[in-house]
Amino acid sequence: MRKKIVAGNWKMNLDYQEGVSLFSEIVNMVRDERKGNQIAVICSPFIHLNSLSQLAGGVVKIGAQNCHQNESGAFTGEISAKMLSSVGCEYVIIGHSERRQYFAESDELLAQKTELVLKNNLTPIFCVGETLDERNNGSYYHVLKTQLENGLFNLSADDFAKIVLAYEPVWAIGTGLTATPEQAQDIHAFIRAEIEAKYGANLADNTTILYGGSCNAKNAPELFAQHDIDGGLIGGASLKSRDFVDIIKTFN
Ligand code: PGA
Repeated sequence: MRKKIVAGNWKMNLDYQEGVSLFSEIVNMVRDERKGNQIAVICSPFIHLNSLSQLAGGVVKIGAQNCHQNESGAFTGEISAKMLSSVGCEYVIIGHSERRQYFAESDELLAQKTELVLKNNLTPIFCVGETLDERNNGSYYHVLKTQLENGLFNLSADDFAKIVLAYEPVWAIGTGLTATPEQAQDIHAFIRAEIEAKYGANLADNTTILYGGSCNAKNAPELFAQHDIDGGLIGGASLKSRDFVDIIKTFN
């Protein structure tokens, strides 16, 4: 059985007090309302992580949005995987399209980050996705395959079994334009088939693949009902407790 996960990505939003207060609301609501065994994760800015992890009570898991590719050292302003682990963080988003686009993160760099994240016993939420141009010119299968091959397929099967994937079409992120359930299912099935070709059916079957891109409480039921969609990576809608918890409850 694949793990079902709903992960919030707060991005660079919410000051410390706002973050703690929103997180406390989410924890209380998830504790009271969640049924089933889906996993709820909040990926907050770094400065919130330590406090959130103390408030989480095992009800909501904590994730970061990025980390550095080196273990430690003279990298002013950076945060290491080991530091994340030391404050109770369990997940790290790797390769979000905003990092690929604004910070020029390449597949090769992301492969390095993924390895280090795994070495520190954290779970990478590894993002792939095509731009609007790539969708329109029909190159998107090729783009996604390259992101998978160069970013992830150097992992051993044992390590690959520990990762979570997120398909996030760049044209759907923060735009209000969601992929249709059919479009999303088509890509999730494609990604699963690529995993199967590389690692075999058993591993492919057990890999959690999240959908991200303007996912909200209204469209989540149809998206999450698709055979190959195992939950969501939620940006905008994770900034309101009611919206985020309603998405989690989609699995109830
Ligand atoms: P969105 O962001 O839900 O606001 O589209 C998703 C993401 O970037 O992870």
